[in-house]
Amino acid sequence: MGEPYQDREASDPKLRATDLTRTFGRTPHTVDALGPLDLTVAPGEFVCVVGPSGCGKSTLLRIAAGLLRPSMGTLEIRTSSPRPAAMIFQDYGIYDWKTVRANVRFGLDIQRVPRREANARADDWLARMGLSDFAHAYPATLSGGMRQRVAIARALAVQPELLLMDEPFAALDAQLRTILQDELLDLTQSLRTTTLFITHSLEEAIVLGDRVLVMSARPGRIIAEHRPPFPRPRTGDIRTAPEFTALKSELWDLLRKEAAPV
Ligand code: ADP
Ligand code: MG
Repeated sequence: MGEPYQDREASDPKLRATDLTRTFGRTPHTVDALGPLDLTVAPGEFVCVVGPSGCGKSTLLRIAAGLLRPSMGTLEIRTSSPRPAAMIFQDYGIYDWKTVRANVRFGLDIQRVPRREANARADDWLARMGLSDFAHAYPATLSGGMRQRVAIARALAVQPELLLMDEPFAALDAQLRTILQDELLDLTQSLRTTTLFITHSLEEAIVLGDRVLVMSARPGRIIAEHRPPFPRPRTGDIRTAPEFTALKSELWDLLRKEAAPV
């Protein structure tokens, strides 16, 4: 399972945004939400985007997911197979009327994967997420962290070429958030899933990212790029490294300037 390691060296990006701009509304009441912004995500790369609230992060992800059109510029996703991009939104959108297993199988059903295989793959993901005992439960009976694990399992079960995540852990308490960050770190390092991850948590971005991109206040542009100096495979232990704290405060200085009222 997963991409061969040399994919990481490939020069063709999985995602490329060029002069990407998005405006909402009609003149004279337009809101410049995003850009112009340039961005690439290489195969196997985990790119985190941080930025102040309302700077256009979700707009960027919705454009990448094909749910919104750019006003100007382009965003291309290079797919080498029929595998889809997968998304996990803030509110994780799992279906309360479907069982946990059916939720995880959802993307596979859409791809018309035969039921037996789909169930086997769903069960494999449920096991990885520690949810085997809940395969036949309904989401309403699960805790927030378990629901979030269902959403992650559902997204990863389709082996997406590109994983798009919009603040997936924002609604969770700090402890659970740390646990899920570490799980996602493990998973994406073993599968080498190309990921574009939106967060407003600097810690999350530094733990997970090969690169951390900082966005300006609206209309969001990329104003800085950092590569956390921690080799792969890394673990959550880096949170206590002095370099971690140093990078976090450097990024915080940038972000604070953007978030400050003008
Ligand atoms: P973020 O995710 O960084 O908090 P968003 O991408 O959700 O920011 O929003 C960026 C800006 O665009 C905000 O000012 C928001 O109010 C505006 N916006 C987002 N979606 C719409 C929409 N569908 N219609 C009008 N304005 C929108
Ligand atoms: Mg958002």
